[in-house]
Amino acid sequence: MLSTEPDCRNLVGGELLAPAGPAIPVASPWTGERIAEAACAGPEAVDGAVQAARAGLDAWAATTPKDRSERLLAIAAAVEASADELAVLESLDVGKPVAWARDEIPVCVDVLRYFSGAARVLDGAASTEYVAGSTSVLRREPIGVVGLITPWNYPLLEAVWKIAPALAAGNACVLKPSELTPLTTLAVARLTRDLLPAGVLNVITGDGRPTGEAIVRHAGVAMVSMTGDVATGRAVAATAAETLTRVHLELGGKAPAIVLEDADCETVADHIAVAGFVNGGQDCTAACRLIVADAVHDELLDALVARVRGLRLAEAADDPEGDLGPLVSHRQRERVAGFVARARRAGARVLTGGRAADRPGFFFEPTVVAGVAQDSEIVQNEVFGPVVTVQRAASFEQAIAFANDVRYGLASSIWTNDLARATAASRRLEFGTVWVNDHLPTPSEMPFGGFGASGYGKELSTEALREYTRTKHVMTTAR
Ligand code: NAD
Repeated sequence: MLSTEPDCRNLVGGELLAPAGPAIPVASPWTGERIAEAACAGPEAVDGAVQAARAGLDAWAATTPKDRSERLLAIAAAVEASADELAVLESLDVGKPVAWARDEIPVCVDVLRYFSGAARVLDGAASTEYVAGSTSVLRREPIGVVGLITPWNYPLLEAVWKIAPALAAGNACVLKPSELTPLTTLAVARLTRDLLPAGVLNVITGDGRPTGEAIVRHAGVAMVSMTGDVATGRAVAATAAETLTRVHLELGGKAPAIVLEDADCETVADHIAVAGFVNGGQDCTAACRLIVADAVHDELLDALVARVRGLRLAEAADDPEGDLGPLVSHRQRERVAGFVARARRAGARVLTGGRAADRPGFFFEPTVVAGVAQDSEIVQNEVFGPVVTVQRAASFEQAIAFANDVRYGLASSIWTNDLARATAASRRLEFGTVWVNDHLPTPSEMPFGGFGASGYGKELSTEALREYTRTKHVMTTAR
C-alpha cells in the first residue's frame, strides 16, 4: 500500500534512487513548513535517466498495443486503489483541500483507461498502390525517449495526461515534476515499478535549470512535452531548437467567459463561483475574465460577489466545507497580491477579497475586481490565483473583441441561448476550447491545447496519441 509519508526517491531504470545532488526543500502551502527534500538532478543524473529510458525503449516499443493497453489498465487500477493516499499527498504538497484532491483521482484513472483503449485503435491511412506495382504503407511509430516536464497546479493529473498517451504509443519517458510539488508524481512512479518494464518510466526531480533544461538539451531525447508558463515555453523551445527536438507546449491561459443579456445571471454566477476559483484560481482554464453585456452587468456582478463572499477558505486540509486552500507558495501569493494592488492603484474596484488572509499558510481571499480597462495588466496577464475580473461590454462585437484581445488562447466560454450568437462566437473565439453555457469540463476523448501564447500541440484524445508518434512511409515493390 502507498504510504502518505513524503518519499522523494527518484525512479531510474526501475530502481528507486535516494536523492543525489543539491537538496530542494519541499514546503507545505498549509503551513509554509518544510515537509521533504528532493534532489536537484544535474546533467549527469539526467543522462542516467535518459540512458535508462533508452535501454527500456526498444523492447517497450516492440510490445503489442494490447500489452501496453493492459499495463495502462493495471496502472489505472493501482492509482484507483491508492486514491486516498494520493489525495492526502497531493493536498499536502499543493495546498488543495483533500476532498478536491480526491475528486481528481477518478479523472486521472479515466485518462489512463481512455489511453489504454486508444492504444489499440491508433489509426493510419489505408495502404494502397499510389505508384503502380508498389504498395505504400504508413507506419505510426513511437518517437523514442520523450521528456515530460510538468507544473505545480495539478501535478498528478498533468503527469497522467502526459505519461498515458506517451506510454500508449510505445515511448519511454523521463518525467520531471515541478520542483515545488514532486510528491504524487514520485508516488505514481513507485506504483508503476511492478507494472512496467524497467526504464520505461523514469521520474527525476529538480529545478527548471539545470534539470529541465538538461532533459530538453539531451541528444537522446526525441521529443519534449512541457506544461508551464509562457516564458518557460519560450526557453524550452529555444533550447530544443539547438537539437531540433520536437516540442509540445501547454502554456498559460486567460480564459474569458462572455455573458450575453439573455443569460440567467444566477446560473452563471453559480458556475463562475466554481470555474473562476477552482484550485484557488491556479488553473490555466479558470474563468478569470468575465465580459458581461451591459444590460446584465450589474445584476451578474451582484450575484457573483454574493457567491464569492460565501466561498470558504479551508480551515485545514481535511475541512470538508473548504472551497479554497492556500496558494502553492509565498512567492505565488505575493505575485497575486501584486496584481490586485496595482489594479487598485490604476482605479479598479475590488468588490470582495483582495488581500492575503490573516492566518498561517499562503491563503489569499477570493477576489472580484470590476472597472478594469481592457489594456490593464490584470486583464492582459495570467494572475493564476483566486481573482476574477469583470468587464462591461457595450455589444456582442465588443465582447468578442475583448475576449480575443489577449496573447493567450487556451479556453473560453460564452453564456447564452441565442443559437446564432453562440455559433458565431464558437467560430470567432480564438481559443483551443470554447464552452457554450459551461466552463471547465474536459473529457478525455476531446483534444485540449491552446493557440497563440498558450502553446501548441494537444493533450488528451487520439490527437495526443498521435502527438507522441512519428509517421513513416514504407513503399514495397515486388521485384
Ligand atoms: P513553470 O513554467 O514555472 O514550470 C513548469 C515546469 O517547467 C516545471 O517543472 C519547471 O521546473 C520547468 N522548467 C522551468 N524552467 C525550465 C527550463 N528552462 N527548461 C526546462 N524546464 C523548465 O510553471 P509553473 O509555475 O510550475 O506552472 C504554472 C504555469 O503552468 C501557468 O502559467 C499555467 O497556466 C501553466 N499551466 C498550463 C496548463 C495547460 O494545459 N495549458 C496546465 C497547467 C498549468
